[in-house]
Amino acid sequence: MSQLEIGERSPPLVVRAPLYCFVRSPLLGHLVVSRALRAEKTFDALREVIPAPETELDYRDPWQLLVAVILSAQCTDARVNLVTPSLFERFPDASSTAAVESEDVFPLIRSISYPNNKAKHLVGAARRLLQVYDGVVPRTVNELVTLPGVGRKTAQVVASVAYDVPTLAVDTHVFRVANRIGLVKRDATTPEKVERQLKRLLPEDTWGDAHHLLILHGRYTCTARSPSCESCVVAPVCLYAEERQRLPVPVSGLNPAKGTYWCKTRRHYFNEPDLPTDRHGSEQISCPKCGSMNVFISKTGHSAKRVRDFRV
Ligand code: SF4
Repeated sequence: MSQLEIGERSPPLVVRAPLYCFVRSPLLGHLVVSRALRAEKTFDALREVIPAPETELDYRDPWQLLVAVILSAQCTDARVNLVTPSLFERFPDASSTAAVESEDVFPLIRSISYPNNKAKHLVGAARRLLQVYDGVVPRTVNELVTLPGVGRKTAQVVASVAYDVPTLAVDTHVFRVANRIGLVKRDATTPEKVERQLKRLLPEDTWGDAHHLLILHGRYTCTARSPSCESCVVAPVCLYAEERQRLPVPVSGLNPAKGTYWCKTRRHYFNEPDLPTDRHGSEQISCPKCGSMNVFISKTGHSAKRVRDFRV
């Protein structure tokens, strides 16, 4: 994006017009893409760059997958993969895990988040598997959630990955990426709503793939803190990228020594902004003198306006 000098007028907004966008909204002024088409384009593009959409957890059988998924709650897959080799060497199956106490498991998973609780869950899950399911990891989400440490999200991942059951678990990555791209409506403010809307939008036989594609895209490209929109294959249909593109052009020549922010409307520097909330519930930075949100960060010259985001 080119920069404006102070006093220079912004050029008229040029909206990207990808071939597959159709209607320009008279109210919103931007191109409207149906969610169905946005989904089709999104997953076509993601499949090109993620040819093998599958879990990154290492496992050999459904039990080991269950263990790895329980351990991965609030923890990265990479870290889980560091501890599971020694854990599975010592306790390779449900029988060996059920025969010990959580104190015996704890040292092997102490580098994972919440090791105390997770050690108890693993032993509890192993014992219930033996008592109720003959030591076999059940196939259905309803049965899986009866195991200690297994919530709906964990159950869906295990059922989908181990048994190809059509499920679509919504974790923090799926929630953020689906919302940013605009695969779900603006009222999808909870993981449950995102799951319902994605399931309505996508064919059932693609749910498992969609789950992994969105997770991997969120993990490596559409990250929570700094999404790589410039190099993202989904950018042509992504609402978040479009909103970022509609931000005012950066201003050059600002002097941070005069103040943290510069109000383009009143043309003055200030340090203490007002922080009103916009109609989407996002906190914005505004000029304390005139209330304008036409505010720029002196150090970078970038607009201080915040695009609505969806981190959970
Ligand atoms: S364009 Fe940006 S916000 Fe949209 S999916 Fe790609 S990385 Fe995420």
